[in-house]
Amino acid sequence: MNNNLNSSQVGDMPKEEFRKYGRQLIDWIACYLENVESYPVIPDIEPGKIKNKLSPHPPETGEGMEAVFSDVEKIIMPGITHWNHPDFMAYFNSTSSGPGILAELLTAGLNVNAMAWHTCPSATELEEAMIEWYKKMFDLPQNFWGIIYDTASVSSMHAIAAAREQLAGLKIREKGMAGRNDIPRLRVYSSEQAHFSIDKAAVTLGFGLEGIRKIAVDESFRMIPGKLKEAIEEDKRNGWLPCCVVATVGTTSSTSVDNVDEIGTICNEENIWLHVDAAYAGTAAVLPEMRWIFRGIEKADSLVINPHKWMFTPIDLSLFFTKKPEVLKRAFSLSAEYLKGEGNATDFMDYGIQLGRRFRSLKSWFIIRHFGVEGIQKRIREHIRLAKEFAGWIDEHPDFERMAPTPFSVVCFRAHPKDVNDIDKLNELNNKLIDKINSTGKLFLSGTILNNKFVIRIAVSGIRTFEQNVKDAQNLIEQKLTELLKEEH
Ligand SMILES: *Cc1c(COP(=O)(O)O)cnc(C)c1O
Repeated sequence: MNNNLNSSQVGDMPKEEFRKYGRQLIDWIACYLENVESYPVIPDIEPGKIKNKLSPHPPETGEGMEAVFSDVEKIIMPGITHWNHPDFMAYFNSTSSGPGILAELLTAGLNVNAMAWHTCPSATELEEAMIEWYKKMFDLPQNFWGIIYDTASVSSMHAIAAAREQLAGLKIREKGMAGRNDIPRLRVYSSEQAHFSIDKAAVTLGFGLEGIRKIAVDESFRMIPGKLKEAIEEDKRNGWLPCCVVATVGTTSSTSVDNVDEIGTICNEENIWLHVDAAYAGTAAVLPEMRWIFRGIEKADSLVINPHKWMFTPIDLSLFFTKKPEVLKRAFSLSAEYLKGEGNATDFMDYGIQLGRRFRSLKSWFIIRHFGVEGIQKRIREHIRLAKEFAGWIDEHPDFERMAPTPFSVVCFRAHPKDVNDIDKLNELNNKLIDKINSTGKLFLSGTILNNKFVIRIAVSGIRTFEQNVKDAQNLIEQKLTELLKEEH
């Protein structure tokens, strides 16, 4: 055994190199963000192309960072979808801001594990403080407790697990659900427009897909509370046990808003856990004029909002609030002797499936402090204004029509020239139109289906997206439709 290995043989990268490449990388990122518009928004590339360029073998001996950086340019960049591009207007765009990027860097530098208070007091206490900031920013009830998870899918899974734990008499924590004839089947309710993460949670937790009942929506794609009530009554008559209702504030396809107040009344009367999925749209509640979206939120048991969708936070960061943290804790805490902590401090590992946890709250702290609540409000308000202007343009255009209300910063529309009325023809036309637009590399839009109709969605939520980008999008959409109609004739 050689006990005299020096630091050039073991240990980390030499500190001079770390300094040098760290500076280079920051410069590179700054340059990338300044010039991101010069890249096509989505790469024009076949599946497998990137993998083929990567070495199939890990290098036997170490390489210099020059070689790695150079391959980022050569191999990785050609396969990058530029989420930070101002003309990325597909899905719910998620963009990272300067303070968010810097916080990610510091997070890796400190590399603490936020599993328990004593494994990093600052991480736990900053997370608790940020939860209180967000509650003030969204005007949420004082009795909401919160935790940061990675994604809304995971947040909602925890909500449904807590809803199940609330039915403590069933002893599911001890005995599980399978192979028992002493418990009824459990049901979760959501609207037909709810995100499929709810279905995944039902699958994961053993409810099965049959354990989800989809409630019909009205003409504006909002859950019909009367139908929810009927479904619950019918299920109870048939021996199901209602466990959880998921209301969506800002559905993924059309951004419709379920009536939390009315749904909440039903849930409270029936003693059913109400979870509110506001992954994208919740951020809008930083604006006093948008607080109506959470009317009745005090009736909800839990709520998820993703700052990584519309609050300029590098992915991932999802906020989970609940007024029953003790139920969540009952569902998930198992104490390991070696992790016994300080009696009255919070150990976030007790409130979820993960033990190891990233120091995500640092991103919140950097971003909120850098922009201020006012700065965030200005940006969100501007996105909503730009989307409303775009919607107005669609409404006035003879060849386009709007397909859903526009409460936030997403507009659902389609081309509908006067002489085309067949539903299949219109679906085909709009499919072709979106392909034609996206293949320019100048704009990236996504599509969805509403009432069997193919619909184009434009999301204005990027921190680098301004009025001119939306105007350019209008021109491109109009120009591509004109070209398409010419080709068809
Ligand atoms: C995006 C979205 C989700 C999923 O979010 P992840 O953080 O990617 O898991 C869930 N619900 C709604 C309404 C969404 O918009």
